[in-house]
Amino acid sequence: MILPELSFMGMAGKTLLLVSKNPAFLGNIENHFARHGIGVARASGAKDGFVKASAGNVDAIICSYSLPEMTAPMFLDLLGAQRKTRDIPALVIGSMAEELIAKKTVIRGGWLDEGASQKEIIARVESIFLEKSMLDSGPGKVMAVDDSPIALKKFEQILKQHGYEYMAVLDPNLALDTVASFKPDLILMDQNMPNISGFDLTRRIHTQRGMEGIKIVMVTSDQKNETVVKALECGVVDFLTKPFDDEILLARMRAHISNKKLFDNLAKAYSQMEKLNRKLETISITDGLTGLYNHRKFVEELVFEQGKAQASGEPLSLVLVDIDHFKKINDTYGHLAGDEALRGLSKLMKKVLAERGCAARYGGEEFAVILPSMEIGQAADVAEELRTAVEKAEFETGNAKMKTSISLGVGALTEEMTTDQLIAAADKALYQSKINGRNRVTCA
Ligand code: GH3
Ligand code: MG
Ligand code: MG
Repeated sequence: MILPELSFMGMAGKTLLLVSKNPAFLGNIENHFARHGIGVARASGAKDGFVKASAGNVDAIICSYSLPEMTAPMFLDLLGAQRKTRDIPALVIGSMAEELIAKKTVIRGGWLDEGASQKEIIARVESIFLEKSMLDSGPGKVMAVDDSPIALKKFEQILKQHGYEYMAVLDPNLALDTVASFKPDLILMDQNMPNISGFDLTRRIHTQRGMEGIKIVMVTSDQKNETVVKALECGVVDFLTKPFDDEILLARMRAHISNKKLFDNLAKAYSQMEKLNRKLETISITDGLTGLYNHRKFVEELVFEQGKAQASGEPLSLVLVDIDHFKKINDTYGHLAGDEALRGLSKLMKKVLAERGCAARYGGEEFAVILPSMEIGQAADVAEELRTAVEKAEFETGNAKMKTSISLGVGALTEEMTTDQLIAAADKALYQSKINGRNRVTCA
């Protein structure tokens, strides 16, 4: 559920064009993309699709095989013949028989069977976008470290010609600073240099924070087997000997850089997932209405504090709180006003408690307050503070202000007591507060 959504990262603002005569083509896939900031445009046929794609701003196309005016391969040929549209990847959806007919056409976005699920379509679009964003970001940034100006010039000539961003470093002592500022995807590293060897420099770069993933290719005239072995042991990803073949150098760089970009994307997705997980964790312990801990977290905290108290011999108290005649508030002001009052009361309790303990929504209009390190007497004082604060307060109910009160029961942990027994003791005390007239504190 989370992962497919994550891989859309960085793809917000992109536009997907759906080309089909059937307006319901792909159902509500639009919603899925919209949630990730991806726009969906629709075209009813090849002509309409061609006009929309030519207008620019289309990053990928999904089209059905048979379009009113022509088949998808012919439509793609049309797009392919025009500079502005030829690089737009298109995914074609059709039957198996149609795929056989279309065999001769190169379909850059690939083919999907008409029975494909929405999940499959989404996954395919993700990888199309991913590939495209890798291409859009250019072939990559390459830095070369070499004490030979001639070698650096040669790298420059090849790399610039192929669209790479290039940075030459003649003095290896400056290499680390340049890596930090230039942030290359790949480094072409000489081995024999004054002051520092390519081996040591490779190791040093890879131990810097944020530089671990940079691909380093050693390019040296030293062809000895032991040099190759040592280079690989030091962490270079590839080894080339001078003089090298330009095409081979370029092919290897392409492979390593595309690997790095994929890895970087994964790493980004992973950190996004961690953030999401933290958010989910917070949600899972929080009561949605009041922002206090929920019942589950309350039990967890109580068990934890009980363990701590029993291990250290420190006291532990628990206060249960119930709003008086809350039903009347709902009946008089409405349920929404009741919610508002619950929120206001929670905020007030949190403020009064400060760092002394933690409050949770036990359920409905009942709250629980855990007071670590407090004897029952101290806890009763805190409970009384809560009671007077609520008694004095006025709560917003939308258009009117209203007053209320709370009843409280205080229990303290004794040896051999379970958490359930502690809750039961506080609950019994709370019941006493209720039958004795409400708006009061009772100790177990
Ligand atoms: P008592 O003094 O005996 O505690 O009376 P009471 O009316 O507060 O107690 P009772 O248990 O009879 O009613 C609790 C009411 O709290 C009933 C329920 O509708 C209301 N309530 C529980 N949760 C919520 C909530 O999230 N929002 C609102 N607005 N009302 C809630
Ligand atoms: Mg109640
Ligand atoms: Mg009540």
